[in-house]
Amino acid sequence: MTTDFAGTLRNICAKYIIRQTCLICGSITETGTPLCFSCFESGFLKKIRGLSFYNKDENRCGKCGCLLASPVALCANCRKTAFLSAVDRNLCLFPYFGENRELLTLWKISGMRGLSQLFARCMAEIFIPADIPVVPVPPRPGKIREKGWDQIEEIAGILESKYHIPVCRCLERDTRIQQKQLGRLARRINIKGHISVKKKIKPPETVIVMDDLMTTGATLDACASALKEAGCANVYGLTLFFD
Ligand SMILES: [Zn+2]
Ligand SMILES: [Zn+2]
Repeated sequence: MTTDFAGTLRNICAKYIIRQTCLICGSITETGTPLCFSCFESGFLKKIRGLSFYNKDENRCGKCGCLLASPVALCANCRKTAFLSAVDRNLCLFPYFGENRELLTLWKISGMRGLSQLFARCMAEIFIPADIPVVPVPPRPGKIREKGWDQIEEIAGILESKYHIPVCRCLERDTRIQQKQLGRLARRINIKGHISVKKKIKPPETVIVMDDLMTTGATLDACASALKEAGCANVYGLTLFFD
């Protein structure tokens, strides 16, 4: 069965046979997406409305973008270590716990791709009305062949086709070691030098590197440092969840 045919069949089922129920509240969703309008609005969109790379937000750290308990310029983590040394400013949208954590697992591990549209909508909220190109964090080699898709590339594709946001796929990864199997320090050492700008591509002057989850920040920082070495002047980061 081709992916297109499976997708069409799934759409028909969602529309006419199996009514999609909201993963959070269990009500039938209006649009066939995995979350109903009300849960998506209150749990996601409402929390990031007005968030932008152009404004300071006193509830968030000015460097890594995490939520602050009290209004200070930088969070304790950023004051202590320069863990995002090559990233000029990061915005991370939602904390990685509770329902958010379950949704990310359903999307990424269980392959519930219906969530891609919703997550892309959240990312698009940050880009509007900006016109900065987005650079997706590259998947490990062979991932698309093994799994059939990559969640970051899927979001990048939606941002490009539905929201007309420019996407620059200029990074590549050359390691087969999976980050998630390593500890914090080993991750930092492992990823450094294994992400590079593709030969013959000159990246734009200002870019936003996009990833789904920030844990140590090592992946994001490795991408930013490769981009800066290749001539980028400003590298911002945008991650859906932060741990
Ligand atoms: Zn709901
Ligand atoms: Zn911070």
